[in-house]
Amino acid sequence: MNTSIICVDDEPGIIEAYVNTLAANKGGDGDIQNMLARRKRRKVGETEPTASVRQPYAYDVFTASSGEEAVEIVREQLAASRQIAVGFFDMAMPGGIDGAETIRRIRELDKQMLCAVVTAYTDRSTHQLGNLFERQDDWLYFNKPFSSGELEQTAYHLVTAWNQRRREESLVTNLEMMQNGLLWILKAVGNINRIPPLVMEALLEGLLRHYLKLIQADDGFIYLPQNNGPVYFGLGKFGACEILVDRGRELQWSMARQAMDQNRQTIIDGNMAATPLIVGDESLGILFAETRETIDHDPRLFDMYATQAVNMIHNSTLYEELNIRNLELNRKNQELMELLDKLTQSENLQQKFKKLSLIDTLTGIHNRRYVETQLQEDINQARREGVSAACLMVDIDHFKLVNDTYGHNGGDYVLQEVAKVFKQHTRTGDTISRYGGEEFLVFYMDIDREYAEKLCERLRKSVEDACFVFGSTEIKVTVSIGCAVFVPSVHDTVNGIIAKADQALYMAKAQGRNRFVFFDDHSVDEGENHGETLIALR
Ligand code: GH3
Ligand code: MG
Ligand code: MG
Repeated sequence: MNTSIICVDDEPGIIEAYVNTLAANKGGDGDIQNMLARRKRRKVGETEPTASVRQPYAYDVFTASSGEEAVEIVREQLAASRQIAVGFFDMAMPGGIDGAETIRRIRELDKQMLCAVVTAYTDRSTHQLGNLFERQDDWLYFNKPFSSGELEQTAYHLVTAWNQRRREESLVTNLEMMQNGLLWILKAVGNINRIPPLVMEALLEGLLRHYLKLIQADDGFIYLPQNNGPVYFGLGKFGACEILVDRGRELQWSMARQAMDQNRQTIIDGNMAATPLIVGDESLGILFAETRETIDHDPRLFDMYATQAVNMIHNSTLYEELNIRNLELNRKNQELMELLDKLTQSENLQQKFKKLSLIDTLTGIHNRRYVETQLQEDINQARREGVSAACLMVDIDHFKLVNDTYGHNGGDYVLQEVAKVFKQHTRTGDTISRYGGEEFLVFYMDIDREYAEKLCERLRKSVEDACFVFGSTEIKVTVSIGCAVFVPSVHDTVNGIIAKADQALYMAKAQGRNRFVFFDDHSVDEGENHGETLIALR
């Protein structure tokens, strides 16, 4: 398409010079037709544009003999969606608006026109003229009289600058569009870097749509000749056809193959662009577009879209790989969970065993192992809290006789019943355990000597009063108790305390049984003596 230039001067001679140089009789038939058509339409006698083909630009030259006329031409061209790139404006045009005013009015309509201010002398300061323009390089001075070479050169530079600006603007617009496209993709993909194949196909199609819109193409396709059969996304006229078998698409296809086979860069051929989709050294496929007009976009645009497409395809492949790996991981996780389950179960079992190992199976109270392993904790606690504690060794009197009389079962029964009696006289936090055959250890926390005596008596009496019914007989037993009351110090050990209680118990036995005796460091206090009670048989 030719670039349009407008030349404004009230002197016909100057206008002629413009036309001769810029539009000098180089136009072909088509151009003349255009010119005639415009002349007819505009009915502007001398001001009709003349077409010309000059190297490297071909200009459509509009001429105007007054500022007002020039403004009208610009308005008319804009209404037909045509921009005039460059204007040469005479400054002094008596009888109408001057060049400065003409430029001001024209720039109200089109700020992009680059202007040459043509003067034989200037009656305005540079500063005043500069107010008409936003940018210093929107305009320049051009002096009359001019040679055709000067004019040609000036026009060339201005047109080049104007074209350059349009390209930059279109690049910015394109980049904005691409940014929007990429934002759309990012939104669609979200934060995941793994795209399931089906989603990938939808995304690729979306990407193609954006790409075609960006380069103003109606038709295009992405072709991926993958291992498991070719994948093909076509839009526009390519949407409905199968590229490989469609004879009518041979041209596009050969270009696509060419880009794919030997070129790492976009191939642009007139109105077709083929961009290879490359990962490493491997060509995955092709991104192809066909536009209505010749493609003159920055090749980086094509590359950027191709990169996006490649990323999507790559991520999709990654997805499948990750999927397989995930399945494997899940399976391993499952195995681990099962193992953990078993371990937890056995841990529970261990805990259960541990708990059981501290319980006396006959009576259900703690056993000697508990005393050996846990009683120190109770002593330490009492020490930390600074409270006194009482350790009672309780032994059933003449228990051998019970066994002998009622048999072992009778003896067991009595052990169970005596344990029950003891349980009734202990609070949570107190420890009661079966220390030996018919020997029990009771540990009371936070208890003074006086209260300990009451408890010993209560225990003794409860057993004495109890009547254990075994089968058809009632069994009565008594107990002897040795008691050590103490405020634990760091020196107190389980064995030490037990030894003291044992010593007192020995005394109780020695003094006739069915009684309690308190240990003290100098002597062993004697508890109440109730006389020896032997097993009563009823
Ligand atoms: P003392 O008044 O001096 O304590 O006399 P005693 O007969 O109670 O004491 P001795 O140590 O002579 O006898 C304890 C008996 O307890 C001997 C043993 O057979 C019996 N015995 C120990 N453990 C069990 C048990 O689990 N079940 C039964 N039935 N008898 C047991
Ligand atoms: Mg005994
Ligand atoms: Mg005994």
